[in-house]
Amino acid sequence: MGRINFEDMTIKFESPLVVAMEDCIGIQSSRLSRRTCLQPVHNAQAGSLRARTGKMPIFRLFASLLFVLGTVASAQAKLNVVATLPDFGSLAREIGGDKVNVTVLAKPTEDPHFVDARPSFVVQLRSADVLIDGGAELELGWLPPLLQNARNPKIEIGKPGRVIAAQGVRLMNVPANVTRAAGDVHALGNPHFMTDPIIAKAVAQHIAQSFAAVDVAAYHDSWVYFAHRFGLEIDVFLEPKPGIPPSPSHLVEVIAQIKSQKIKAIIVEPFHERKIAEKVASATGAKVVDFSQFPGGLPETDTYVKLIDTLVSRLAAALE
Ligand SMILES: [Zn+2]
Repeated sequence: MGRINFEDMTIKFESPLVVAMEDCIGIQSSRLSRRTCLQPVHNAQAGSLRARTGKMPIFRLFASLLFVLGTVASAQAKLNVVATLPDFGSLAREIGGDKVNVTVLAKPTEDPHFVDARPSFVVQLRSADVLIDGGAELELGWLPPLLQNARNPKIEIGKPGRVIAAQGVRLMNVPANVTRAAGDVHALGNPHFMTDPIIAKAVAQHIAQSFAAVDVAAYHDSWVYFAHRFGLEIDVFLEPKPGIPPSPSHLVEVIAQIKSQKIKAIIVEPFHERKIAEKVASATGAKVVDFSQFPGGLPETDTYVKLIDTLVSRLAAALE
């Protein structure tokens, strides 16, 4: 997928009010602290995605690593982004700026439960690099048939091209049991969560991660969690199935995929057949990158943090 540098993306969520509200999370137990929390913070820094991170060193490290990877993701053509609703579209425009074309399906004056689905929506979904939808059934009445007709693998659930805004959101008003008497809407809980700016900030981070995702190939499917955390898409494997050795016919397919997706890096671990990866690399121009799941598996990785640091630097170097 065409990608955007994290450096180029700014999320203007550091308004004094939002910062003050966020700092309050977890300490709202007494009336006194709540009152303190709601006072605006005047020295809040105007910030980017990486400006506000957790207090533990490992999270601070993670934020800087994410930044390292993001800066080497090359921006090519504009990303085609489709947002189901105007609030998602607004965030996408603010984050992506002139690097994205954003199409919003629902009008801001339309009832989001009952959007008038036009044939042009299918065309827009078909050419989308990224789809942002709520994922909490707000669009249940009109989005699924459009997606079925669009048949766009880039925006399937689980791909970096699909941002499901509700992911990680604890929905309010989850019904104990769903009956017809309660109506058809809000079966998963209340889907109007974008009216909470703190939740919207988390959604904005998901959007930024999707915009910055980079394609990589791997020998074996060991990196799904790493890929998710660092904004990578790893869906090309030298093994035809996990644990099955690469066959010549499968490698022909892999070489074609690497070329068509312009993949620049192939991840191998110490116990893999590096020569096979090297052959694929020389046929495609990709680089073989030595990875390990374990501290000590690579030089100078005697601690976990050093290992993750090494993995990210190696990958960043290969993607340059
Ligand atoms: Zn509703």
